[in-house]
Order: sequence, then C-alpha cells, then structure tokens
Amino acid sequence: MNDEIEITLDEFLKLPKDSYLLIDMRSESAYQQGHIEGAVLTNDHISPETELKLIFYCQYGIESLQTAAYFRKCGFQAHSLQGGYAQWLRTQDSAFDLEELERYDRQITLPQIGMIGQEKLKRAGVLLIGAGGLGCPCGMYLAAAGVGRIGIIDHDEVCLSNMNRQIAHREIGVSKALSLKNTLEGINDKIEVTAYPYRFSAENAAEILEGFDFVIDCTDTAETKFMVNDLCVHYNKPYCYGGVIGFEGQVMTVIPHKTACLRCIFEEPPTGCETCESHGIIGAAAGMIGCIQALEAVKYITSPDKLLTNRMFIFNMLTMKTRTVKFGGISSACRICQNPA
Ligand SMILES: [Zn+2]
Repeated sequence: MNDEIEITLDEFLKLPKDSYLLIDMRSESAYQQGHIEGAVLTNDHISPETELKLIFYCQYGIESLQTAAYFRKCGFQAHSLQGGYAQWLRTQDSAFDLEELERYDRQITLPQIGMIGQEKLKRAGVLLIGAGGLGCPCGMYLAAAGVGRIGIIDHDEVCLSNMNRQIAHREIGVSKALSLKNTLEGINDKIEVTAYPYRFSAENAAEILEGFDFVIDCTDTAETKFMVNDLCVHYNKPYCYGGVIGFEGQVMTVIPHKTACLRCIFEEPPTGCETCESHGIIGAAAGMIGCIQALEAVKYITSPDKLLTNRMFIFNMLTMKTRTVKFGGISSACRICQNPA
C-alpha cells in the first residue's frame, strides 16, 4: 500500500485486521444504524503511542480526509477511507440493487433511517383510504420513499373540480384508485401498488386492512373519518388521521389501544360539518397535510418514537400559525377503545 492519505476500499480490505484502528466519525445514531465491522465510534480509543494505522471514515469520505490530515500532522499514520461509509455500503449484501441504493441514497444517509430503516420501508405496506387531495401527495411521497407495498382504496372517479388539489390525476372520468396507482408506478417501478376501486366499509375492512402495516385516512367527510377510526381501532391497525378545509388542516396518529383515537377526543362526528364542496379548499393546503401524513407513515415504520400521538397538529396556512393540542391518552368513556377487539 502506498502512503497516500486516502485509502481505497480495496486497499483497506486487504490490510491485516490487527494493523489498524478503524474510526467511525459519524453520529452515534448513524453508527447504531449500521457501521463497518470492527469500527469504533470515537477518537477516545487512540493511544498516543499507538503503532496502528488510524483509518477514519465519515459518510462520504470528506470530513475524514481533514481529520486524517490533522492526525498526520500530530505524527500518526492516518488515512481516510475513500468514498466513506456510503461506498462501503454499496459493496454489502443488501435487499437493494445498485439503482435502489442510488435512488434512496439521500434518505439512507439520514441517521434516523439508514440502511435498516430503508429495508423496513421496503418490507412495509401502507394503505391509503382515499385517492383525493390528501391521498395524491401522500401516496406520491410514499412511493418516492420506497414503501414496498402501497394500497389505494377509493370508489370515486376523477372530475374536473378535483384537479386543483388531486395532483396525481391526469384524466377525467377514470377511477381515482387506478389513476393514482398509475402515477405511483410511474414515480417508482420498484414498488408494488394495489388499487381497490370501491368503497371502504365495515364489510371489506378486515380483509383489506390485514395486508397492511399502517393506514392513512385521506377521506373527506367526518362520517367516513369516524368509520375509518372505528375500524382501524377495532382491527388494531395504526393509522394517521388527516383533515383539511379551506386553509386549515389537522393531523393525528392513532396507535390502537395505546394512544387516543378520534372518538376519545370528539365522541361523535360533528353535525353540519363544512366540506370542500361547501367551503372550498386550496390545493397546496391539502398537499401540506398529505405530506405530513406521509411523514407519519415513514416515521412509524422507521423510528416510531416521534409520532403525533396523543396530540393533534393544527396548521392554519393562511396565518401560518401552528398549534399542537395535547390529549391525556385513551378516554375511559370512549366506546371504541373500551370495546376490546
Ligand atoms: Zn378511543
């Protein structure tokens, strides 16, 4: 091996294991998500008298180059692993081909996702109930993120007045579920998308929900939202509620029998509720809420400790004011949560 400061992966792999100390310079959470075998996390292991080569790596081999240069000035035999952790990852057995690794590179880089999280996304199934103003952006981001199986249930057909917000649709008069499926397959051909072009109901819920890990309520009436809530809690299926009207939207995630459901908070659907038809809606507001729902799904699958559970996020996109209303958990008076499945 020459004495260049950068060491290639091939050169590194040929080194005798007892001839070097391998130091991972990334964050502790990135290290926990995955690291090169034998690597230590900090400089603490470096003894001033060491005879070992010091091999530093970071995500892409950029910061580690500076660190290696600094240690060389201090008299150590220091090197930086060329291409960093990302380069090493490409050589490992994985659930992904090279194209997928490149496609998802920017999120695999995130310590909260990493390779382990990306594999979880690939194995996960998310069901969208509704392929409208929330379902379109939500589904598009889930497809782009590499959620392995996406289901779409919607009985409706696309009409012209949908087009200001239902951005995945291109053609009037076709099934929304099939239209969104086409768009998602166009975004990412590495995932499996199933369309159910009929109404979600108590009769078909058990069969459809069974195949998915997480559900997103992208429906547009209060009655349907309460039905989705009741069925998800009954069949013990975690789900994300979302609603938007005018310029205002709300999001909350429900983990059945662990966190508050919609009925713990509101008991019954409010009567005389405004709808998009009566009150109007701006497309980008639906897009914001649909994107937050997609984030909740990604977080549930990869790092479930930061979810919008027992709290509702409320966003007024006209004033740009946000509120997060906290709830005390499952209500002892909730007839859905207090009724074991
Ligand atoms: Zn409840």
